[in-house]
Amino acid sequence: MKPRVRFAPSPTGPLHIGGVRTALYNFLLARQLGGTFILRIEDTDQERFVPGAEDYIIETLAWCGLQVDEGPHVGGPHAPYRQSERKPMYRQYAEQLLASGNAYYAFDTADALNTLRENTQGGASTFKYDATTRMQLSNSLTLSADEVKERLNRGDEYVIRLKVPANEEVVFEDVIRGGVSFQSSLLDDKVLLKSDGMPTYHMANVVDDHLMEITHVIRGEEWLPSAPTHVLLYRAFGWEATMPKFAHLPLILKPDGNGKLSKRDGDRLGFPVFSLDWTNPETGEVSKGFRERGFLPEPFLNMLAFLGWNPGTEQEIFTTEELIAAFSLERINKAGAKFDFEKAKWFNQQYIKTIPPAELANLVKPQLDDKGITVSNEFLEEASRLLSERLTFLNDFWDQGQIFFQEPAQYDVAMLKKKWKEGKKEFFPELVDRVEKLADYTAGALEVEVKLFMEQHGLGFGDVLPIIRIMLTGTMQGPAVFDTAVLIGRDETLKRMHKGLVEFDGLVIS
Ligand code: GLU
Repeated sequence: MKPRVRFAPSPTGPLHIGGVRTALYNFLLARQLGGTFILRIEDTDQERFVPGAEDYIIETLAWCGLQVDEGPHVGGPHAPYRQSERKPMYRQYAEQLLASGNAYYAFDTADALNTLRENTQGGASTFKYDATTRMQLSNSLTLSADEVKERLNRGDEYVIRLKVPANEEVVFEDVIRGGVSFQSSLLDDKVLLKSDGMPTYHMANVVDDHLMEITHVIRGEEWLPSAPTHVLLYRAFGWEATMPKFAHLPLILKPDGNGKLSKRDGDRLGFPVFSLDWTNPETGEVSKGFRERGFLPEPFLNMLAFLGWNPGTEQEIFTTEELIAAFSLERINKAGAKFDFEKAKWFNQQYIKTIPPAELANLVKPQLDDKGITVSNEFLEEASRLLSERLTFLNDFWDQGQIFFQEPAQYDVAMLKKKWKEGKKEFFPELVDRVEKLADYTAGALEVEVKLFMEQHGLGFGDVLPIIRIMLTGTMQGPAVFDTAVLIGRDETLKRMHKGLVEFDGLVIS
């Protein structure tokens, strides 16, 4: 059977990486088995609705390459895919449960319930509307049929609640956790339909998963406590035979493993926890996203895939196609996955290394355009080849490679003080002269010539290479020095060497 899976976020703000990982695992399963990946927007909680959040979710999926087969922006056979637009469909299902005795009308006012909560032994939070309390409350189980009818006709406010059976063991299989069992007496009689006619999360979620023919519910561990209510709903509807398989994903933990990774951890430790930059529409506060931080979609997904899953081999670097082939729900861990930003960066860096230089050149070109620098494609491609091993993020290109496009702005004076010494520095004008006269201006020929020069004057690598490097690039870091010399060309190399000859004495004295 081809899976039909859904990513069902509530549009309450930016997408935490945990949410993107949920979307990814759903997507991988669908693609592996030729199934369908659905986006459903669960916006029944109007109070938590945040404008812009749905667009943000769609933009994230598009950026990551998690192509949606059915969803609010692409349509599909089960449209609409936004629950607020499905509102009229839910009532009949609530009525079905009323008719079968699995649900009841509850007329208790908010005030009455609050008073009850306050008077509950053990504090307000211990109060539950359930098998132990429902018979003392104002609902269609305690009121006469006539009174219920009268109240409904009068237009009294009511909600519809699920009648959770007392003292029953609710058992179901979770693909990741194995057999899960909950005591029904720990569950409360969840509201299914609110007084404004809007379904609650539980009701809309189960009805939609059924109507949309969802085969696997793959979602975060925080929804595990809701699962027994959902199982009871499937039973109450008589839909048990087609109930989806459940897979509750492990939490993504703080780097130290102490609790769930939150936005505050990101702020404190200096890394993003959201997919894209997000501007809070109320406060204007901007939260950083992985995209803007310089992550590329493929390594971002690769990193996320490994937060909770492993292929069972040593391989860590996967393209999205390879993830599709290797993924399995059975290999997802139960234990939470610690988020490690250094590791996330490593994935990005490993990926950049694999980008062919011509393509990398295209990706970094905007950084030069921004600075008004124009160079030939060949030049930029070679610069990209020399730097590709050294970039963690694309935006590192300018920092690492600016000396390809302009002479060094400053010199490593501390190193010069160690290396620009009487008895050695006198030989360098000759070296510059030899570079000028070199017949074949290639990295190999430069190396041979420099070695010869060293031997003839009894100098070591440590006497000569740092000086050439600082002349050309200003620092001790950077790609191979002879490759750099060839890329910038003989004229520019000689210009920089001459400048070093003129300036180094003064720098060393000061
Ligand atoms: N709307 C829920 C959320 O925001 C979906 C949970 C589920 O997938 O069932 O995560």
